[in-house]
Amino acid sequence: MTAVSHLTGRPINRFTHIHHDTADLLAKTRMGRLMGARTGCCFQRCVGVDALNALSITTYNLDARRGTAYFQRFNRYLAYVQENDLVCDGAMTDPKGDRSLAPHEQADPDLYLRVIQKRDDGIVVRGAKAHQTGAINSHEIIVLPTVAMKEADRDYAVAFALPADTAGITYIVGRQPSDTRKSEAHAMDVGNLCYGGHEALIVFDDVFVPWERVFLCGEAEFTGELVEKFAAYHRHSYACKVGVGDVLIGAAQLIAEYNGVHRAAHIRDKIIEMNHLNETLFCGSLACAAEGRAEPSGTYSVDTLLANVSKQNVTRFPYEIARLAQDIAGGLLVTLPSAADFHSAEVGPWLKKYFQTRAGDSTENRLRVLRLIENLTLGAAAVGYLTESMHGAGSPQAQRIMIARHADLEAKKRLAKRLCGVPEDETTGRRHEEP
Ligand SMILES: Cc1cc2nc3c(=O)[nH]c(=O)nc-3n(C[C@H](O)[C@H](O)[C@H](O)COP(=O)(O)OP(=O)(O)OC[C@H]3O[C@@H](n4cnc5c(N)ncnc54)[C@H](O)[C@@H]3O)c2cc1C
Repeated sequence: MTAVSHLTGRPINRFTHIHHDTADLLAKTRMGRLMGARTGCCFQRCVGVDALNALSITTYNLDARRGTAYFQRFNRYLAYVQENDLVCDGAMTDPKGDRSLAPHEQADPDLYLRVIQKRDDGIVVRGAKAHQTGAINSHEIIVLPTVAMKEADRDYAVAFALPADTAGITYIVGRQPSDTRKSEAHAMDVGNLCYGGHEALIVFDDVFVPWERVFLCGEAEFTGELVEKFAAYHRHSYACKVGVGDVLIGAAQLIAEYNGVHRAAHIRDKIIEMNHLNETLFCGSLACAAEGRAEPSGTYSVDTLLANVSKQNVTRFPYEIARLAQDIAGGLLVTLPSAADFHSAEVGPWLKKYFQTRAGDSTENRLRVLRLIENLTLGAAAVGYLTESMHGAGSPQAQRIMIARHADLEAKKRLAKRLCGVPEDETTGRRHEEP
């Protein structure tokens, strides 16, 4: 969980570290799984380290091409984050309005966050960032562009960081399934008694950013690289769902034991399938880390193709793991009366009598496990385990576009030609078109 800062040589939280070899990237995979397993929810720190690493690459490349001084500025900011172990929200996703239009084409120009004023001492920004995980428990908000932009969108090509309590920033927190259970008297119905997460819409209502905290301003041609690097790192980060999967598999095994079905061949096979899917996700995250390589800045980036393949699996496998957990859990998962009923003098004894299973097992413990499975597959934690697996770090199609772009079909065609005797320089017929 700790690393040595390449800037100061001091020990730092690994969530503020710049990766300098594949061992760092592999440690990040394992750290994500560990954190997911210990919290059973989104622990809200990966997005910050992903934003920092992407910025370390792009600010360096930008300076090399344009003679700017972003990299030094970024490193001063990074040292501050590392020294104080700050939690950083990676704020990328704009509201986006009509998805078929570029930022500057939107009916309302604020649907993508933009620079509305440049001053001697800094810039003023207006707009919003949607779905921001962990926003209200973050110290810092790191804003990045959400799409690759062209010159006409240069006012939207902006990256910066601000303290989360900067004047002019407002957080509007999203609802989650069963969220009011957290305010009820009996904690049991919440499922996960220890941890949870939140997302917020962050509104930037004409907010001043000093130059010292601006890392991209108007250089639209670098937005594509920044978005791609951030997205690849963030897709790598989904090792966290393997840890949450560990919790769900454990809960499914437990409920099978409480129900007395754990020796049945099909239940054992379903648990094997859940593990197979979960470990396949782990393989993907490890693989894109192991195949990482150095960027000109010295930062190690993950393998882009493998990171996208890995995240594409994440958009599917947790849903199948959740389906199997619900199969094993039985219908009581969604018909279970409340903890208030369970503890009531009037009906509680009936619940204890009719929901008992194996002799000697606690009915209450069985119900607690059911609530945890409900929490992970239908309740507040399903926001992180399922829908975030689908859309976080980009919807499934975003990964398919990247897979198409990096799959190198021409090289694969050459392999096939060589084996079946088609000349290498044969040019007739259609060529593959890049997406
Ligand atoms: C729980 C959760 C946590 C998140 N946390 C963060 C966070 O911490 N930081 C952050 O920056 N973001 C975060 N996100 C945002 C996430 O990256 C976005 O949800 C994702 O990029 C999809 O964007 P969207 O939600 O606007 O959906 P949309 O972009 O509206 O996508 C909906 C559908 O439309 C399709 N689509 C969209 N645009 C086009 C187009 N131009 N052409 C064709 N099809 C299109 C998509 O492929 C998808 O199928 C989070 C999301 C969730 C659900």
